[in-house]
Amino acid sequence: MPISSSSHLIDRHGRRVSYLRLSVTDRCDFRCTYCMGEKMNFLPREEVLSLEECLRIARVFVRLGVSKIRITGGEPLVRRNLSWLLREIAALPGLSELVLTTNGSQLERFAQSLVEAGVKRVNVSLDTLKPERFREITRIGEIGQVLDGIAAARVAGFRRVKLNTVMMRGVNDDEFAALVHYALYHDLDITFIEEMPLGETGRDRPGSYMSGEEALALLGRDFPLIPSSETSGGPARYWRLPGANTRIGFISPLSHNFCETCNRVRVTARGELHPCLGQNEALPLMPLLRAHPEGEESDTLLLQAITESMGLRPKGHEFSYASPETPAPEKPQVLRFMSMTGG
Ligand code: SAM
Ligand code: SF4
Repeated sequence: MPISSSSHLIDRHGRRVSYLRLSVTDRCDFRCTYCMGEKMNFLPREEVLSLEECLRIARVFVRLGVSKIRITGGEPLVRRNLSWLLREIAALPGLSELVLTTNGSQLERFAQSLVEAGVKRVNVSLDTLKPERFREITRIGEIGQVLDGIAAARVAGFRRVKLNTVMMRGVNDDEFAALVHYALYHDLDITFIEEMPLGETGRDRPGSYMSGEEALALLGRDFPLIPSSETSGGPARYWRLPGANTRIGFISPLSHNFCETCNRVRVTARGELHPCLGQNEALPLMPLLRAHPEGEESDTLLLQAITESMGLRPKGHEFSYASPETPAPEKPQVLRFMSMTGG
């Protein structure tokens, strides 16, 4: 089958897939309590996609009509020679946006080279502004490095810098207003995310689950929030404040299922294509990549496999937490950690 530049990925429910999240490593210099267990076994290097394999995957997805790629991880900035991959992906004809999600720890060093490589926007995870709390949440991290990274990103020339905050009742819900003030002061966007049950991290997730609606009500006490109909092509719903650039977003996979409009798939650092973040099904691309060296014909095999994976895409995820009426110990419905699939 010749590779057609006009191909599109349409899944069995009629949804078009135009967005790839590509994880370039499962490793990370943090161990966030909502994302990883305290002790993690990372993949042996030979099981991780090489940068060339990442590029092959990206190229085929772009040929299949994907116009936006997010580089993620683990922590993408711990991957050596990442700039090479970013430059190559950014130059793929047909790609309109290359973006990246980072914990910010290495951003001071890399912000400028990310912009030069063609990364248009960065998301930086920030759940607290308090150093001790930051250490508790990340188990290892130094908040100063992240704040310096955000400062460097602001002047590096990205179109926009956005903060991602995972909402945790009793952990950081007393700081949502402070985080919005920080975003306003530094002219950043901020998105509050409901915690998803991915991987057994040891946290009491049902106990600290907080919905987007609750966070919105909390913030409404401090800010004159104006609902906005704008979208960044994803599941976030946005609010604005009079006279400010800052967008305040909410991603609510548990309280507001947005699967109907889902336009994205994920590839893990091990080369597994996950048609849905909230399900365990995956298609391993590594055997195809390794059995067939790079070339038009082998890319065609990859293209066929990816196209066929659209038949695996479920209607939606089934995330939920036990309700107070049925207090069951939390069991993650998806066994892999978020750091495997990259959010
Ligand atoms: N290391 C980078 C970072 O922290 O931004 C990129 C990878 S991280 C897995 C991507 C995003 O997923 C982060 O914004 C993180 O806060 C979020 N995340 C991790 N575990 C989560 C969970 N269980 N529920 C919701 N969001 C989660
Ligand atoms: Fe690392 Fe990001 Fe997961 Fe935190 S959320 S442990 S920074 S991959």
